[in-house]
Amino acid sequence: MKTPELDVIRDPAAWQARCHADRDAGVRIALVPTMGYLHEGHASLLREARRRADAGGRRGLAVASIFVNPTQFGPSEDLSRYPRDLEGDLATCAAAGIDRVLAPSDPRAMFAPDHQTWVTVERASEGLCGASRPGHFRGVATVVAKLLNLTRPHVALFGEKDFQQLAVIRAMVRDLAFGVEIAGMPIVRDADGLALSSRNAYLSAADRATALSLSRALFEARDATARGERDAAALRARARERIARAGARVDYVEIVDATTLAPLARAAPGAQLLVAAFVGATRLIDNVTLR
Ligand code: AMP
Repeated sequence: MKTPELDVIRDPAAWQARCHADRDAGVRIALVPTMGYLHEGHASLLREARRRADAGGRRGLAVASIFVNPTQFGPSEDLSRYPRDLEGDLATCAAAGIDRVLAPSDPRAMFAPDHQTWVTVERASEGLCGASRPGHFRGVATVVAKLLNLTRPHVALFGEKDFQQLAVIRAMVRDLAFGVEIAGMPIVRDADGLALSSRNAYLSAADRATALSLSRALFEARDATARGERDAAALRARARERIARAGARVDYVEIVDATTLAPLARAAPGAQLLVAAFVGATRLIDNVTLR
C-alpha cells in the first residue's frame, strides 16, 4: 500500500530494514507508537514528530506505528472490540505529515507463537493502573522496546494522557540504555474538558456526560490546590465523591510524585493527580498537574 505521501508497511522485518537503512544514512527519525483509531490527541503527537524529525535543519523521517498490542490487554478486557479504522488512521497520518506507517497485518507478525521475552519495569508499573491491570505494563514495555529496536528512532513521542505509561517507558529507556529521547506531550481535550481517547467511542451520550466528571473533578482539585489546599486525602475524597456521584465507578484517585509516582500526603506543587474510573464497562483514565 502506498500513497504519494505515505508508505504503509505491513511486515515488521521490512520496516526494520527500511528504518535501519535510513538511520545508517544519517536521517533523523521520530516515532509515534499508537494503537490506532486516531484522534486529535494522536494527531498532536504526529505533527510534533514531523517537527522533531526535521529539527536538524534537514528533512528527517516522521514515522508512526498502528498496532493493537494484544499483550497489554487482560483476558477480560476489550481487545476483541477495540475500535479500528486503518483507512481513517492513514488519512490522519498523511495529513500530519507522517512519512511511513508500520501497520502489522497480524499480531503474530509482532508476537510469534514462541515469543518468550518480556520487559518488566518494576516500581513504575506498581500501583495505579498496574494494580488493576496485571501484566498491562509488561505488555506495553515489551512492545515499545520492540518498536524502538525495529525503528531505531532518535526521538519517540508519547502522551501524558497515559501518565504512568510514560513513566514506565522513561524508566525502561534509562535502565536499558535505549539511547532514544522520550518526549512527553500534553493531554488534548475536547472543548468541554473530556480527555480524548479511542475508548470514548464506546460511550453513549449519557455515558459521555458521566465521563465528564473525571476532568471536572481533576480541574476542581487543581483549582483547590491553586487556592492553597494541600491535604491530599481531602482532595482525593472530594474527587472520588464527585466522580461517584456522576454515576461512574472509581477505580482509583491518587496524588503522586510526578517523577517517582510515589503516593503523597501533601499536594505540593509538582504533584500529579490521577484518576481511573469505569463508565459502564468502559475504563477511562485522566490526570492533571496540581498547582
Ligand atoms: P494509544 O493509541 O491509546 O495507545 O495512544 C497512543 C499515544 O497517544 C500514547 O502515547 C498516548 O498517551 C497518546 N494519547 C492518547 N490520547 C491522548 C490525548 N488525549 N492527548 C495526548 N496524547 C494522547
